[in-house]
Amino acid sequence: MVYWGCVLYPTTSPAASHNPSPFQEALRRGQLLLPRCLACGHVFYPPKAHCPRCGSSALEWTRCSGRGRIYSYVINHRPLGATPGEAWDVMAVVELDEGPRILATVVGLDPDPAQVRVDMMVEVAFPGADGPATTLSFRSA
Ligand SMILES: [Zn+2]
Repeated sequence: MVYWGCVLYPTTSPAASHNPSPFQEALRRGQLLLPRCLACGHVFYPPKAHCPRCGSSALEWTRCSGRGRIYSYVINHRPLGATPGEAWDVMAVVELDEGPRILATVVGLDPDPAQVRVDMMVEVAFPGADGPATTLSFRSA
């Protein structure tokens, strides 16, 4: 459970919101940056100080395509942080083309299980310069 909590809301802590990470700043610019290990080439999420595969601390931020496919999903009828009138959302584990899996919302879909399917192609829905870069969303590609 702790692991999923980190994946779901890695950028919503008060400290993170006052000191945006390169990940958050890139989202506002319309880019998806993830850490890549210089020792073994592993691209991973969430960002950490060491590579989860080999333990190296030699890392760089690499620009990802923002494209991927739905690995798994659930239609959540009681979304966290919902605004009035927003009664549901689609939460999905998205497997990026570069390999990492990210838990995020999928926007622009009706809450109909017939509209969402495993292996559906998605792309990052960037929040824009004025949007909140505290959550990562995808849309159908
Ligand atoms: Zn590594």
